[in-house]
Amino acid sequence: MGKRISRTVLLKLFDRQNGRCCYCDRFVIMSADYNIQQWPDAATIEHLRQRADGGSNAPHNLAMACKRCNQERGAMNWLTYATFRRGEFTEFMAVITQSPKQ
Ligand SMILES: [Zn+2]
Repeated sequence: MGKRISRTVLLKLFDRQNGRCCYCDRFVIMSADYNIQQWPDAATIEHLRQRADGGSNAPHNLAMACKRCNQERGAMNWLTYATFRRGEFTEFMAVITQSPKQ
């Protein structure tokens, strides 16, 4: 899974995004408490381009997301997921139903 990203990076992202998730725009919770880190609105670091897809730990590839969005996104393209989370669901459905089946 590669090197663990430091908490300092997460703090910088928190500051840059004014404490809000990059997808759903809700406030996230930052805590050193492991139990709180498992909450759906806990802050997590998101790789915009996923590591499995060659994405790096470089700052331009990182964003802060709540745990719920991070987990729900799965392997979806981040822009597609952001559109989905911001409520443009009809457009999202149009996009995925037009995609060729794999
Ligand atoms: Zn979110």
